[in-house]
Amino acid sequence: MSTQHNVILLGGPGAGKGTQAERIVADLRLPHISTGEMLRAAVAKGTRMGLEAQKYMGSGALVPDEVVIGVVRERLAEPDAADGFLLDGFPRTIPQAEQLDAMLAEAGRAVTHVVLIDVPADELVQRIAGRRSCAGCGKLYNVTFDPPKADGVCDVCGRELVQRADDNEDTVRNRIAVYEDQTAPLIGYYTERGVLESALGGGKLPDEVYARVQQILAD
Ligand code: ADP
Ligand code: ZN
Repeated sequence: MSTQHNVILLGGPGAGKGTQAERIVADLRLPHISTGEMLRAAVAKGTRMGLEAQKYMGSGALVPDEVVIGVVRERLAEPDAADGFLLDGFPRTIPQAEQLDAMLAEAGRAVTHVVLIDVPADELVQRIAGRRSCAGCGKLYNVTFDPPKADGVCDVCGRELVQRADDNEDTVRNRIAVYEDQTAPLIGYYTERGVLESALGGGKLPDEVYARVQQILAD
């Protein structure tokens, strides 16, 4: 039996994947592979791939599968992902999930845990509106649910807190619609494979959700 943690975090935009991911990777010492962060880094650098991705991200649409799959394939080939990983924001479509299964199978591996962070859609908009991150260290906050000690300033490093370009209301509604249309079918895909478990996230604090996530990952 394998003791690897090849983990996928699934959930709508604003479900709290990033917050749970920080805790999981710290406890299980897994590399945190966030396609959203990798794509934003490519946009910030102005690489060719970043410029291509930006066209979709600005409106809350998905970046084409072949672009994202290429990014993940390269990242999973790095040595730190050989004994386990946490994928955050990938896969987001059935073709991405099929490609991931194929990639892992080539190395005799498989997805071991899919953790669904289940939050009602009406709560997602409200959460994203309050979301901020530190411009210095990247720590996540929510002005309503998890505010910093001083307004607009990071508790850890003192830098200013910023809002993501795609966290405005129109884009958020589109991202939620895209999630329901293209990503939610993965719930059935992974349920059939017997690897999916849910953590209810609606109206819960990050620590409460994490207690359930720890249970899921202990099996
Ligand atoms: P959130 O989960 O809050 O919507 P992410 O940071 O995961 O945000 O993703 C931000 C944006 O990056 C998405 O709206 C999409 O345009 C793009 N993106 C990230 N991951 C993927 C993916 N696996 N497939 C397609 N597009 C992606
Ligand atoms: Zn900081």
